[in-house]
Amino acid sequence: MATVELKGLRKSFGALEIIKGIDLSVEDREFVVFVGPSGCGKSTLLRMIAGLEKISAGDLLIDGKRSNAVAPAQRGLAMVFQSYALYPHMTISENMGFALRIAGISRAERAAKVQAAAEVLQLTPLLQRRPKELSGGQRQRVAIGRAIVRNPKVFLFDEPLSNLDAALRVQMRIELMRLHEALKATMIYVTHDQIEAMTMADKIVVMNGGRIEQVGAPLELYNRPRNLFVAGFIGSPR
Ligand code: ADP
Ligand code: MG
Repeated sequence: MATVELKGLRKSFGALEIIKGIDLSVEDREFVVFVGPSGCGKSTLLRMIAGLEKISAGDLLIDGKRSNAVAPAQRGLAMVFQSYALYPHMTISENMGFALRIAGISRAERAAKVQAAAEVLQLTPLLQRRPKELSGGQRQRVAIGRAIVRNPKVFLFDEPLSNLDAALRVQMRIELMRLHEALKATMIYVTHDQIEAMTMADKIVVMNGGRIEQVGAPLELYNRPRNLFVAGFIGSPR
């Protein structure tokens, strides 16, 4: 079980309110995509869910438990960043096992988990290489692998494909959907790319200026946008 509930969630930086009251339920094993223009607060919201950013007001519940009662490391979440943030001096295997090493997991158990994740992501032949010897798509898979080894209940993705070229983005979209099937995890995915949202989501959340404009299945939003913003954002060809 991994549900995430946002109740009247708000975030201010100083006097500036960035997240202006977000209500949303994410179901167990759902693939939810937050989409909206640059600066609308997507990353801030994701960082709040991850516990990297304090909540100014409202409640965040993970599996029904208030988040402030649970330390970020105990929430069963793992975040994948746009920048990959791999350690250049470590091998792929060491990069993928790093969080486990910090958590005090034994070498044998680490190796088993890294191998299993590498298999799923087709990284097995690359485990002894260093990040600079990998392509952009391979590096992105390593960043995802680093999350998988922690066996999270919820994956948080912040624009994970935006540094990849168009062809690779298409391929990685398919791989991420496969992964969602295989891991049976809940996924919360942030993007400014309408195509990603339309192709991958069970449920799309359209954000604008720190608020939700509309929530619905891709076709629901496409066929029945609530307002011009949603119509323009989801309907516009790119
Ligand atoms: P998005 O990911 O949708 O592009 P962000 O969540 O990164 O949007 O940012 C939303 C707004 O919050 C932006 O105007 C950004 O400048 C502001 N912001 C984000 N982080 C901080 C911070 N630590 N301090 C002040 N303002 C911030
Ligand atoms: Mg962002």
